[in-house]
Amino acid sequence: MWLARLSRRAGVGFALLLAVSAIGSESTPTQNPAPPKPVDPSLASKLSEHPKSSETSAKEEDDPTLVENDPLGGQEIIIGRKDETRKPAEPPPPPPAKSVKAEAVCPTCKNRGFKTTTKADQAYMLFESDPAPDPELYFGWTPCPDCKLGLEMKQRFENQKDRLAKRTEVYAAHEKAMGLAFIDFETRNATGHFQTTPVEARDCAKYFEKLSRLLREHCEGDAYLKANPAAQHMVVCENGERYALYLERFSKSHPENEGNWKDLARTTSSFGSRNLTVIRRDAVAATSAGLGHITVFVYAQMLVHEACDSKAPIWFCEGFSSLCESLIFENPWCYSIRYEQNKLSFDVNWTQAVAKGVKDDKIQEWEVLFTREMISMPVLEYQECWSIVRYLYKADAVGFAKLPELFKQGLETKKALEQAFGKPLAQLEKEWRLSAAQGR
Ligand SMILES: [Zn+2]
Repeated sequence: MWLARLSRRAGVGFALLLAVSAIGSESTPTQNPAPPKPVDPSLASKLSEHPKSSETSAKEEDDPTLVENDPLGGQEIIIGRKDETRKPAEPPPPPPAKSVKAEAVCPTCKNRGFKTTTKADQAYMLFESDPAPDPELYFGWTPCPDCKLGLEMKQRFENQKDRLAKRTEVYAAHEKAMGLAFIDFETRNATGHFQTTPVEARDCAKYFEKLSRLLREHCEGDAYLKANPAAQHMVVCENGERYALYLERFSKSHPENEGNWKDLARTTSSFGSRNLTVIRRDAVAATSAGLGHITVFVYAQMLVHEACDSKAPIWFCEGFSSLCESLIFENPWCYSIRYEQNKLSFDVNWTQAVAKGVKDDKIQEWEVLFTREMISMPVLEYQECWSIVRYLYKADAVGFAKLPELFKQGLETKKALEQAFGKPLAQLEKEWRLSAAQGR
């Protein structure tokens, strides 16, 4: 199973990331695309600088050309961006406005502008035939009725209500533009367009919501949940023919995205960007669990890219995606490659593999691993990325939740980790080795 992924490289232009998953097999994949070349960096400048989210202003939403030109309902598909001014995706609500003076604290909402409701704890899975729900189900909060900030939040509610009411039109426009039919659904952090059985689509929706809930509860907030269904899309095409058709029509409807990505993507079983991932269903093991692994892995990649504004280092993005996969399925199966072929065969148990690597002194020094570009990365380094991210996640949830913001600020790994966890890097590394060696 292959995934070609378009992503930003170290803040300098963009490059193709090819992801491979050795699902359910210790042998190397049988379908081996030609080694990819880096994507033409000029592609980046041709891509959208203005992704639309559910936070768009009324003026932008009134612009009919956005829907007309874009099969995904005005959501331009991007691969990273230079535009730093993009508003955050929702949920959740923004911090209190600075204009509110300290002495004017709203007793109802403490100047948050909203009240959290029990619906925040409920899974949010909206399929195409379902009636549009109250936005409270989507947000998990309601606007404060007692203050000016509540009025601002009410506007967000209204915007969301509009979007939810129009979503089936957006699905229909997408299907028409692509000439393909899908099972369409949204969760809190992504929209799915699946050519699978309804059961498989629903299983994947459940995995996404389960993962989002785990991350929200563990990190006590939305640090990793900035993706939203208006911006992040996942397409599953049932076979290679339809996958090729999707690529062709997508590229035609986005003529600005010229470059060699199409040729490369045709040779792989899927491709993706921060806002769109397309998967070939028949390239995934023919079980819903197999589809689950790859969809959760790429869902996590969209989450981490969105949360960190595509500024997180490669080791972290990879480790985070594997962590998410293992939060749902215990043992990871998927991995990514960039620029060139890297056929690998993974051990069945990643925890044991890392423990052995530590004991045999075969693992990579952190500071070396943190600068790796994943070209020719060996199996054990992929597993180490996963093990480190998993360790940080389990050891200190508060520190872990600080990382996206620090990466967004452009901090290097060493500084970001030391600031988030309040320890020297050497100390963290020592503690991780001890834990990993014990098979934790
Ligand atoms: Zn209030």
